[in-house]
Amino acid sequence: MWTVATYVLGKKLRGVKRYPLVLMLEPLFRCNLACAGCGKIQHPAEVLRNELSPAACFKAVDECAAPIVSIPGGEPLLHSRIAEIVAGLVARKKYVYLCTNALKLEESLDQFTPSKFLAFSVHMDGPREEHDHAVCRDGVFDLAVRAIQAVQQRGFRVTTNTTLYAGVDPNRIRVFFDQMMDLGVEGMMISPGYSYSKAPDQDHFLARQQTIGLFRRILGRGKRRWRFNQTPLFLQFLQGNFDLECTPWGNPTYNLFGWQRPCYLIDEGYCESFDELMTTTAWHEYGQASGNEKCRDCLVHCGYEPSAVAATFGSWRGFLKTVQSQLGIPWHARDIGESSMPNTIDDTLKEPSNSSSNRRVRLPVLK
Ligand code: SF4
Ligand code: SF4
Repeated sequence: MWTVATYVLGKKLRGVKRYPLVLMLEPLFRCNLACAGCGKIQHPAEVLRNELSPAACFKAVDECAAPIVSIPGGEPLLHSRIAEIVAGLVARKKYVYLCTNALKLEESLDQFTPSKFLAFSVHMDGPREEHDHAVCRDGVFDLAVRAIQAVQQRGFRVTTNTTLYAGVDPNRIRVFFDQMMDLGVEGMMISPGYSYSKAPDQDHFLARQQTIGLFRRILGRGKRRWRFNQTPLFLQFLQGNFDLECTPWGNPTYNLFGWQRPCYLIDEGYCESFDELMTTTAWHEYGQASGNEKCRDCLVHCGYEPSAVAATFGSWRGFLKTVQSQLGIPWHARDIGESSMPNTIDDTLKEPSNSSSNRRVRLPVLK
């Protein structure tokens, strides 16, 4: 928190309008799962076999200079030199979140050294039934729980990341949060899924007001014991209680193709350098206010969490609202932007008419 606060305030004092907060470093697209809502693994086999070298990762990290590096994928633990990459980032004093589905986590631990700069962020999309359904394989939830316990016993930091789709039961997600707290995870990260056009399951992505309704049901009357690895303003944004505009440059993405324009979720071309990405992207064409169809229903953390951080440290209103949330003082109706209010919350939670909640979509898995 201190690192982020001083970094953001430093940028503000120097009048820097756009700056990166979290580098999304995708060192490979290969995965040992094939989740129905995933939009990252649909590449030709030659791309899936490819990996970024440690040198390429370090060059990107140095160019971008964000204080936090998130390593998603694909599954980063399938990368042949992932330990070398992580060690190099820790040596640079970057806060690293290695996102993993946990299938290989326990067996990989010997390669890593516990550090305050390194956290494993375990993919957990809800309680056992929901998670195994989301990842299209039975037994993965139990395996991930065992891996989390092993990670903690070895002295590593561990967090979770949860992506939610239409049709989940808010009460079961609340119970899941209790479970994760009982397990002792340091913090949870939650987000609605992005409606990737390439994802095999197109029936369970949430429209904007459905997202707000769902997160109100889950986070309204939130428990003080729940610890989130996210800003209070982003959690209020998900509930329609605080307006934010997307700042896609806050979480720039670097992968096998270069710097992805404009964000982690949509791919509209690549740049050779971070500077080129920042200076030549038509940022005004993205975000809710732009009217861009691809952004219409997006409330995903990689676009809006940096906006929430900027609002927290860049405005008195944002800062006071953050303090209010931290102290557990309820938000009142006057805090809520009318534009964000769904007409009725129950309407937002209906299953999409063409959905089939028991349907599983399977993709081939590249070993
Ligand atoms: S674990 Fe699932 S969501 Fe993550 S990269 Fe693999 S297939 Fe995609
Ligand atoms: S609104 Fe979402 S999809 Fe659009 S630029 Fe922002 S993060 Fe990307």
